Amino acid sequence: MKQGIHPNYQQTTIKCACGEVLETGSTRQNITVETCSKCHPFYTGKQKLVDTGGRVEKFRKKFNLENK
Ligand SMILES: [Zn+2]
Repeated sequence: MKQGIHPNYQQTTIKCACGEVLETGSTRQNITVETCSKCHPFYTGKQKLVDTGGRVEKFRKKFNLENK
């Protein structure tokens, strides 16, 4: 295995609020973003709410429960 070619640049996972998971190379690890190329209006070409099929709602419910 070759080592030291890109010591600070490695494969990582970017998780988007829409539920999309992207793998990319970055110097950072475990990145989370609110929009990605799959759901950002700039890329989709149309205004679109982040519809995650209930994932966000599910997350909010969980979050509320944890705060009680
Ligand atoms: Zn996204």
